[in-house]
Amino acid sequence: MVTKNTKVRAVGLLSGGLDSTLATRLMLDQGIEVFAVNFTSPFCTCTPKSAGCPAVVTAISQLGDIPLKRIRMGSDYLEIVKKPKFGYGAGMNPCIDCRILKIKKAGEYMHKIGASFLFTGEVLGQRPMSQHRRAVDIINRESGLKDYILRPLSAAHFEPTVPEQKGWVDRSRLLGISGRSRKPQILLASRNNITDYPCPAGGCLLTVKNFAERMRDYFAFTDHPSLKDVELLKVGRHFRLQNHDKVIVARDEMEGQRLESLHGKDDHLLVPFDFAGPTVYLCGSGIQAAAEKMVHFTKQALDENHRDIHRCGRESKTVRLHGLLSGQAGISQKLIVNPAPPSPKPFPPEGERTG
Ligand code: SF4
Repeated sequence: MVTKNTKVRAVGLLSGGLDSTLATRLMLDQGIEVFAVNFTSPFCTCTPKSAGCPAVVTAISQLGDIPLKRIRMGSDYLEIVKKPKFGYGAGMNPCIDCRILKIKKAGEYMHKIGASFLFTGEVLGQRPMSQHRRAVDIINRESGLKDYILRPLSAAHFEPTVPEQKGWVDRSRLLGISGRSRKPQILLASRNNITDYPCPAGGCLLTVKNFAERMRDYFAFTDHPSLKDVELLKVGRHFRLQNHDKVIVARDEMEGQRLESLHGKDDHLLVPFDFAGPTVYLCGSGIQAAAEKMVHFTKQALDENHRDIHRCGRESKTVRLHGLLSGQAGISQKLIVNPAPPSPKPFPPEGERTG
């Protein structure tokens, strides 16, 4: 509730990118009391599990002391990725559904803290999937917060929202930026001493071709997707066998350790014992195929006396490779993804930052 003597409170979606930082700056300059919300997800490329988004910390340091709430999107988000109402972008990125979920969650926070509206850094026409006019209309409608969502950088292109109609925000001081060029934002940033902001590309693994392929394969073989499995999708070389088993081969020691830390009770893990080779993770029962992969990706010559550690559930035993390789008849395998070692960039142009 806004009275004459109270400051108007608003919730801002702050990704840490340039646009949301500028939108927040514009609101602060109008005397709005801003409460920032930052979303992270299992698909953020720059945010290790449980860590906060580093870009948002930089943004806040340039904006002043504003409260920040972090929201990590979890299982509900995974359901949306599996079956988005409004489809995917070029990868497995359900940007419209993702924005709707974020706005809804920000709206809940808005009600909780007694804020009067929320705002975002969206720029009309900047992102190919979620920022064209039809997408913005869908997001407004489906979030149920239509007239309470202000987009300060593009406000002139939209009908006045409630905060503008009520005079909480001066519409004449809002902007009319649109399109893909970022020159107006860069100029505005330099005028406001905002010098440190991340590159606009990147941020979301769902837009990355190789990862999108893995997600598609995963959903095709999984009825109940889990966040733990998403972590597995980020590690190693992935193979889907003809019997539907999944084999993951670590590409280096760090990935081997990651696979060990993700090892679930129903899965198998093969770790080289007396030779230098890759750790192999198996979801399924095809131990022989997993052992074959381990041998295939080992650079040194192996003989049947070499041993590896085979873990399944709580059991762990050291076995000779011979024992693993001579079990079943050969299982033919199909390579689904065999990417080069990951690099943080580049991302396709349709990628959008998280937030
Ligand atoms: S690119 Fe951005 S909007 Fe699209 S799904 Fe990923 S985080 Fe959500």
